[in-house]
Amino acid sequence: MGLRQQQFASDNYAGICPEAWAAMALANQGSAPSYGEDAWTQHASDAFRALFEIDCEVFFVFNGTAANSLALAALCQSYHGVICSSLAHVETDECGAPEFFSNGSKLLCAPSLDGKLTPDAVGSIAGSRCDIHFPKPRVVTITQPTETGQVYTADEIRGLSTACRAYGLKLHMDGARFAHACATLGCAAADITWRAGVDVLCFGGTKNGLAVGEAVLFFDRALAQDFDYRCKQAGQLASKMRFLAAPWIGLLESGAWLANACHANACATRLAAQIEGLPGVELMFPVQANAVFLQAPPPLVENIRARGWSFYTFIGGGPRFMFAWDSDVSCVDQLAADIRDAALAG
Ligand SMILES: *Cc1c(COP(=O)(O)O)cnc(C)c1O
Repeated sequence: MGLRQQQFASDNYAGICPEAWAAMALANQGSAPSYGEDAWTQHASDAFRALFEIDCEVFFVFNGTAANSLALAALCQSYHGVICSSLAHVETDECGAPEFFSNGSKLLCAPSLDGKLTPDAVGSIAGSRCDIHFPKPRVVTITQPTETGQVYTADEIRGLSTACRAYGLKLHMDGARFAHACATLGCAAADITWRAGVDVLCFGGTKNGLAVGEAVLFFDRALAQDFDYRCKQAGQLASKMRFLAAPWIGLLESGAWLANACHANACATRLAAQIEGLPGVELMFPVQANAVFLQAPPPLVENIRARGWSFYTFIGGGPRFMFAWDSDVSCVDQLAADIRDAALAG
């Protein structure tokens, strides 16, 4: 088998989308003030305020681990606890960074098969202990869409924020693929964030067509106090900030943020439709965003790999395929054909 022209092992295999690239080139003219004091950073922040229809505080950092960890650290004292799902990226894929940057705030994991948290799960942790020997629950963090590609509806988020308020908890959203959730729901960005009770959002740019960068949005501006110092101390204050900020202008103002996500989601749906009903192949989770998780016997999984396809199996042991703004539909169809051939070969 030759090398595939395109792989779907992760949505961060993709390059930079043209809108982000063009905005970066526009910002690359002459000199500009550093550390976020430039016009591009102001403009990008205003583009977020327009999209979210609220005067939020906006910060740009290099990656999602920093965005999540620093946002959670801003919401917590070291003796606090952060309620998350057992599959949450903050728990499984950030190398302890949330605990590190918060100086010890403990992640309190609720068992979850699909990565979703429920008000009941929040209540069972937040209501289980109120003695001084247990970390005091302070924040709930949810991933939208989840690590398995499940999308929370606005109603589900409102249910969670109601539970949060009842227990005096803040609500943080890991939106590494936030655009993909908006594309699925067809709703305003505000409807599944501050209007539904989310206090802080980490909006992912990397998996949405940027080279690098995530935005941290504080809808409750008071929570952002000194966040700039936290970013600087953590090595997340870009001195040439315009190049971290400007690509967002291209992404947001052209509508590419949503079009990119719609395309990625459509590729996932396309793959799922083509492999439906094949012997031995099941979807591990409903396809609600840009991920397809398969459940298949190990020989069939190896057969797919032997046909030249790369994929991870870290959730549930089956292949995961992720689609991005640049996913080539004919490659998606080739993947579907290979899965079909492998399945029918028995
Ligand atoms: C990709 C991803 C992140 C960010 O990861 P980095 O590699 O730190 O940029 C955060 N949360 C989820 C759910 C992700 O999939």
